[in-house]
Amino acid sequence: MRYSITFAEDNYETLVRHLFLDANAERAAYLLCGVSRTADETRLLVREVHPVLVSDVVSASVNHMSINAASFMRAMKRADRLKMSFVFVHSHPTSFPEHSAQDDEEEVKLFRTAYLRIEGERAHASLVFSSPDRPRGRAWLRDGSKVEMDVVRVIGQRFRFFRRTSCCSNPPLFHRQVQAFGGGLQHELRSLRVGIVGAGGTGSAVAEQLIRLGVGHLYLFDGDTLEKSNVTRVYGSGVSDDGCAKVTILGNLAKKIGLGTEITTINRFITYRGAAEILRACDFLFGCTDDEWGRSILTRLAIYYLMPVFDMGVKISSANGIIESIHGRVTTLMPGSACLFCRGRINSDRISAEIMQASDPERAESLRKEGYLPELPGVAPAVITFTTALASSAVTELLHRLTGFMGKDRVSTEVLHLFEQSRVRTNNREPNLDCGICANREKGGRGDCEPFLDMTWRVE
Ligand SMILES: [Zn+2]
Ligand SMILES: [Zn+2]
Repeated sequence: MRYSITFAEDNYETLVRHLFLDANAERAAYLLCGVSRTADETRLLVREVHPVLVSDVVSASVNHMSINAASFMRAMKRADRLKMSFVFVHSHPTSFPEHSAQDDEEEVKLFRTAYLRIEGERAHASLVFSSPDRPRGRAWLRDGSKVEMDVVRVIGQRFRFFRRTSCCSNPPLFHRQVQAFGGGLQHELRSLRVGIVGAGGTGSAVAEQLIRLGVGHLYLFDGDTLEKSNVTRVYGSGVSDDGCAKVTILGNLAKKIGLGTEITTINRFITYRGAAEILRACDFLFGCTDDEWGRSILTRLAIYYLMPVFDMGVKISSANGIIESIHGRVTTLMPGSACLFCRGRINSDRISAEIMQASDPERAESLRKEGYLPELPGVAPAVITFTTALASSAVTELLHRLTGFMGKDRVSTEVLHLFEQSRVRTNNREPNLDCGICANREKGGRGDCEPFLDMTWRVE
């Protein structure tokens, strides 16, 4: 079992600002976290940061501190009431990046108390920071043993992954990318687990690029099979693949390219709970589906699991073969920014129509005739030039968040491409105040709950 912790950028900034306010004394904080548990990873999701108050510190020096018991008991009580994990954080002098022998001794007692005070099967953890970008974490288990954390993730305008070990060397194959961005990015790409939802025009172009960039592990989600008419846009496909699962075609493409990308294919739509739960294994996702139902699931996942989603879409308006407009967008979904509902990109009436269509097509048809359900869009125009441009834009967005190459001032959560005007625009919308998903602080980092994502799921 791997252990990890994920922060939204604002919580991470709050934490390190508090920890490093005074260079002459160790400082501490508690984190309360939701949990995401998959077959091989327990991921803590930071929901609340509680600085330890100066009045609760009995004594503190450059390499020691002692805290009033009432202080951590309060935090544990809140963790128990809200069914969250408890994390203890403290700062160290720069030259001591690891937990000390004294930390080991104190924390055994602290986490024995945590397991007594906080009910439920949740792991608790501790972090030590020797500088704002040097966190070290470990999970404390119920039996008093501890496991080093694999990675501390920070997601926001920048994505940062503080890993315990760097996984491999840079094969010379990638040297032109290394020339551009340096070796750090190449290591990072190799360590990533990236999900692509939808393996059609945009999804296959994203996959082609991520495989060639050297991403370590791709999870491909699509329940569809290829039709001959898809070959005009789907990378890796040929006319003879008619009837083959789209995810299998991309899996074969990765094998053929041979750069060592691990591929997990999920030949099922994420509107099935069993498939959607596998999304939790990823570091972030690319949303390449056409349907609003699938997008509504990604919208929730981004918030509940602190899981960024680069969601994209392209719309060609054409009348009698004459182009009116070609608009594409890449929207980055994550806590703190407007979701697809707030942006009017999806709406609950159309989602209901899609759900009804999937579960009871006859009833959907009669409701549509009576005007109770909106019409679903039919087959829309699509051209490889634009689906590929959008995919490139989404992958570029990722490269910026990993490296910051567009500079600190570039703060954006949506890129709009107005192809017929040769224009690109960006925006950064805040959540609508009344949005029940992205503006609701109760949902950010909520993690596993029953039912999954607080949604009703279709019958498997
Ligand atoms: Zn310490
Ligand atoms: Zn919203």
